[in-house]
Amino acid sequence: MHTVQRLCTRCRKRPAAYLRASSGEALCRQCFIKSIEDKVLRTIRDYELVRSGDNIGLAVSGGKDSLVLLHIISKFIRKKILRDVKVQVFTIDEELEYSKHKLERQSVIRKMCEEAGLSYNVYKISELLGISVEEVYNRIRQQGENIHMCTICGVLRRKAMNELAKRLNLTKIMTAHNLDDEAQTVLLNVFSNDLKRFKWFGVETGEDVESFVPRVKPMRFIREEEIALYAYFTGIPMLERECPYVRENPRYFLKFLLAELERKNPNIKYMIVSFGDSLSRLLQETEYFRRKVSLRRCRICGSPTTSEICRACDLVMKAGLLDKYVLANTSGER
Ligand SMILES: [Zn+2]
Ligand SMILES: [Zn+2]
Repeated sequence: MHTVQRLCTRCRKRPAAYLRASSGEALCRQCFIKSIEDKVLRTIRDYELVRSGDNIGLAVSGGKDSLVLLHIISKFIRKKILRDVKVQVFTIDEELEYSKHKLERQSVIRKMCEEAGLSYNVYKISELLGISVEEVYNRIRQQGENIHMCTICGVLRRKAMNELAKRLNLTKIMTAHNLDDEAQTVLLNVFSNDLKRFKWFGVETGEDVESFVPRVKPMRFIREEEIALYAYFTGIPMLERECPYVRENPRYFLKFLLAELERKNPNIKYMIVSFGDSLSRLLQETEYFRRKVSLRRCRICGSPTTSEICRACDLVMKAGLLDKYVLANTSGER
């Protein structure tokens, strides 16, 4: 973090504690905290991410980003800036060795929720879907297929959230994606030549591929580094331990690439995300694209998908666990 011997450019009273390279501002601790909260609120208001009567599921993994989001949303609720909405905080437990560490955060999350009068629950993937991430991973690996744990974990976590949304009648799921995550997503889509994924790129995704419930991301215009600094300034405990599979994740490399690019252009992440948003809007308006990437229903579970079978069902099928999984799903409320 930059420490500068100068006054805050906003209040002109207190010493600056952070130099925001993207705007050239020098900010004191208080003005910095306010700038982050204002940005989240502006994003919520400008994009109408929260509407009266919403039943929002707030996904909290226990990582710093999600704790910061919970902290800010709780504050908005306490101050009645957010009203007439129901917020249900939840953690999806992937039941991996690493999840145990994440779940150590439960008491911190629970305390934050209690203070804001929010409900908090932990849901195991195996309870929601009838199968576990680990058994799908092991079985697919046993068949000699080289698949990343992060792919399986991501797809099944997403599926589990959809299942949960149905059970809790959620109108949307709020996630803590930040500017870095979103810039990485744009680059991943480009590098994998996957234009169709831009159709579901944005601050709010509509009926998404493989999801019935819109996802809203009020922190997607905030750089990861500033979220970490917000956590530090507000005393949110950061006991980050990296996911053991992080190096397998294609996003890992992009982190360094983006940091390198940012040294030359402090606004590069914002520009990449903004480009992704423009492209997304353009694609939505294109008739050819609408037809090409029209959604169908998964033959197995009925989720929206661009293929015959959604990614989650495809993975479960590859693992030979379909019976167990379908059984668990059909015995649910549907
Ligand atoms: Zn200030
Ligand atoms: Zn499916």
